[in-house]
Order: sequence, then structure tokens, then C-alpha cells
Amino acid sequence: MQELTHYIGGAHVKGTSGRFADVYNPATGEVQAKVPLANVEEMAQAVDIAAKSQPAWAAVNPQRRARVMMKFVSLLNRDMDKLAEALSREHGKTLPDAAGDVQRGLEVVEYCIGAPQLLKGEFTDDAGPGIDMYSMKQALGVCAGITPFNFPAMIPMWMFAPAIVCGNAFILKPSERDPSVPLMLAELLEEAGLPTGIIQVVNGDKEAVDAILDHDVIQSVGFVGSTPIAEYIYGRGCANGKRVQCFGGAKNHMIIMPDADMDQAADALIGAGYGAAGERCMAISVAVPVGEETADRLVEKLVPRIEALKVGPYTSGKDVDYGPVVTAAAKENILGLVETGIAQGAELVVDGRDFSLQGYEDGFFVGPHLFDRVTTDMDIYQKEIFGPVLSCVRAKTYEEAIGYAMDHEYGNGTAIFTRDGDAARDFASRINVGMVGVNVPIPVPLAYHTFGGWKKSMFGDLNQHGPDAFKFYTRTKTVTSRWPSGIKEGGEFNFKPME
Ligand code: NAD
Repeated sequence: MQELTHYIGGAHVKGTSGRFADVYNPATGEVQAKVPLANVEEMAQAVDIAAKSQPAWAAVNPQRRARVMMKFVSLLNRDMDKLAEALSREHGKTLPDAAGDVQRGLEVVEYCIGAPQLLKGEFTDDAGPGIDMYSMKQALGVCAGITPFNFPAMIPMWMFAPAIVCGNAFILKPSERDPSVPLMLAELLEEAGLPTGIIQVVNGDKEAVDAILDHDVIQSVGFVGSTPIAEYIYGRGCANGKRVQCFGGAKNHMIIMPDADMDQAADALIGAGYGAAGERCMAISVAVPVGEETADRLVEKLVPRIEALKVGPYTSGKDVDYGPVVTAAAKENILGLVETGIAQGAELVVDGRDFSLQGYEDGFFVGPHLFDRVTTDMDIYQKEIFGPVLSCVRAKTYEEAIGYAMDHEYGNGTAIFTRDGDAARDFASRINVGMVGVNVPIPVPLAYHTFGGWKKSMFGDLNQHGPDAFKFYTRTKTVTSRWPSGIKEGGEFNFKPME
């Protein structure tokens, strides 16, 4: 059995806590590795190394720091297939989807190459007589990030690339479900020229997370994961005086207006609802058709498409639409919620409960499900399912439809499908959700914009990547300076004794 390591001080180091977690191959259900779970001492060791290494890195000029990112991009491209394969093997998503995971992280690294421009400060000439005032953006010191299982390449890169290019040292605590790619990324960064100790990966669970939250030297914590943990980390991190941003769960609604192109809407729902087995925080899990006739047409178009979905292991290549979910526990939770949906009166139009794949009977595969006539009091509506289960909530009017999305506790992403510019404009303006698509089902902003939800999907002030990341990973220092009149008043030619 492969024993994974931490990456501390530029080397792979074995865990010393004696605690491990199993890392599965979700397609076969086999344990393929064990990952060490760090204790407080192991975390403290990484923090010490980070704190010692960081000042010299912050003193490297921004252009040279950006060059490390440039080189890192070329190494990511070189190793794309290797990274995607390692990612699929632990996560279960298809190979093209895994390459997309790396790619969307890589794009943030590309954005970070602009650091010399993005880190420029502000200057006021002659703010008073002979007085200049200028502001600098300086690194925080040691930063940490805690990431979820569902994007093991993209989300770590969204955090560590801006943190590092701003001159910080970064400690990553990746998900214990799929830790191999984060370890590979740390190695690649050092191959790209990053000095030892600036990126470290400390694997672990709650114990390692608490060690981050309680360590005085760590200045900032970024978290992405489920909402209860986001709330916990935000509370404890802030109480300990850290800068914290936490991104949580989601329940993304897509509103389908009667004038929408129903084929396009159905196609969009298939990709956004079932892609990556629904394990995306920007997945659409609720379809809200407006009007009974729209709903009937939509369901009629969805059913054959859902029944045609190909579910299988990533090793089957491009012939698979989505793979297994991440663990047996995740599968059990999804199927449990499906039972609740039936018990609470939702209409199960496509039933994936009996799905099984020959040769992969122990894999964590879940067949696709479609519920119709879901109501807002049901668990399958209120809870994040994080699986291949789409719920259809029928609305009589546009106002009722927008009201559903507005009233839900989550506010990560949402979309409207319509041909009417006025409806789309009204929706984009009024909706209380952070990322909005107009005829675009998964409106994930590109690297140079920012990513973040509203309501219970986000705790903190600044979004991920884009200009906000450069604010989150720096602090401003403002200097007011006056120079007394000196040498320009005339040369001194005579020897002057010391006064
Ligand atoms: P999770 O909350 O279980 O785990 C996330 C991280 O927190 C992991 O590193 C894990 O080790 C750690 N953790 C787990 N339990 C903890 C505890 N009790 N105390 C301290 N740390 C703990 O989330 P997950 O299952 O890995 O990821 C799926 C969730 O992430 C979904 O809710 C999804 O919506 C969300 N997500 C949100 C975004 C976003 O940007 N809003 C993006 C991706 C995923």
C-alpha cells in the first residue's frame, strides 16, 4: 500500500502522528493509498520553516516572482496528462474534466504573472508643502489554505498562486480524499524555481485545521468546502485575529422562461446538473421552469437525455459522461436523500438507484436521478445533495421563480434561460446570488474576474482570484514623507567640522 507524505521544507516527509486516512480509487472502491494526518507539532514545524523562508522571498522583486509563475505554467502544461490521471484516479472524475480542473487553476497562475502591475502602489506628489504620500502593498507573511476534495488542482492554485506571487509563504492543507495532485503541484513549483519553504503541503483533518487556526504566526486562512465547516473556520480564525475568507456550499437554481430554447436549456441542464456527478459547487441542482407547459416540455426533453448518460470509470476515456462519487459515504448520503425525496412526495421521474456497472460493482457509482414537482419544504430542495440528482420545482410566474432562488439560504450561482433581454436584465439586477448566468448554466468567472457566492455560500469580504486575491494576500502601508532641504541648495566646498 502506498504511503503518501507531507511536503515540508522542500522534501517529502512521512507522517509522524501515527494517524492516517484511506485514499480510495472511487471507480473500484479499493483503498489505493493512505495519507498521513498531521498533528500540531508537524504543522508547527512547517510554519517555522515558512516564517524563516518568507522574508527573503518577499524581498525578491515582483518581476522575478512572476517569472516563477511563468515557468510553473509551462510545467503544468508539460505534465497535464500526468496530473489529470492522478486526479481522476483519486477523485473519480473523467480525464477531460480532470484536465479542466488543472486548466482553470492554471489560468489563475497566468493572471498572477501580472503581479508587477497588480502590486503597484499609489503615489500622491506634493500632498503638502514638500510632502509626498505613497501606499505600498506588502505581503502578509505566512498564509494557509484549506481545500475541498472536488477541485484538488484548481482550488489550491486559486489560493497559493496569488499568495505566493505577492511574496507570502503558503501552507496548504488539502482534502484528505485526494491529496496526490496538491503534492505534485508543490514539487512543480519548486522545479519552477520557488525557494524551499514557500510552498508546503501538510495533510490532515480537523486536528491540522485547528493547528492552523490557532497558530499565531499564520496571518490569513482561505477555506473552500461545506458551509458548516466554513462557518466554523471563519468564526475561529477571525476570533484569533486572522484575515479569513471561507467559501461554502450551494444550491444553484436555473430558471427556464417559457420563451427559452428548450433544447438548449435541456442540454445545459444535463452538463450543469450531472457533469462531475454533480460534485461541483456551481452545479445546477434545481431547475425552475416557469409555467406548467414549460415544465412539461422541459421534463419531456430532459428524460431521454438523462437516460442516455454514460456513467463509468475515467479509464474508459472520452466515452464516459461522469464517473463515481468520491466515497462510499458520499454515495450513501446521496441515495439517502433520494429516499427522503420519495418519502416526502416528490415525483422520481428518472430513477438511478439500481445503477450498477459490470466489473465495477464495488465502485461508488450513482445513476442519474430526476425529481419533478419538488416543493421548498422538502429536504432534497433545502439540502445540498452534491450528487447526480436534479430537482424540478415548478413555478407559475417569473416572480415566483426568482423568489425561490432569492429565498434559498445558499447564493453561490444561478442562471436564467430566456430570449427576453428585459427578463434577463431584471434577473441579473435583482437576484441575491454572487454569480449569474444568462443562457449560461455554470457561470464560473474567468481568472481576471473574481469568484464568490453570497448568503451562506461565502463568509468574508473578498472573493477568490482576480483583483480581490491581490487585496486578500497583501496589506497596505502608507508612508507620508518630507525631506528637509539638502544638497540642492548648493554644494559645500569647504571642510566643515562635525557639529
Ligand atoms: P468539507 O467541508 O467536508 O471539507 C473541506 C475541507 O475542510 C477539507 O480539507 C477537510 O479536511 C476539512 N474539514 C472537514 N471537516 C472538518 C472539521 N470538522 N473541522 C475542520 N476542518 C474540516 O467539504 P468537501 O466535502 O471536501 O467539499 C464539498 C463541499 O465544498 C460542498 O459543500 C461544495 O459546495 C463546497 N465547495 C464550495 C466551493 C465554493 O467556491 N463555494 C467550491 C468547491 C466546493
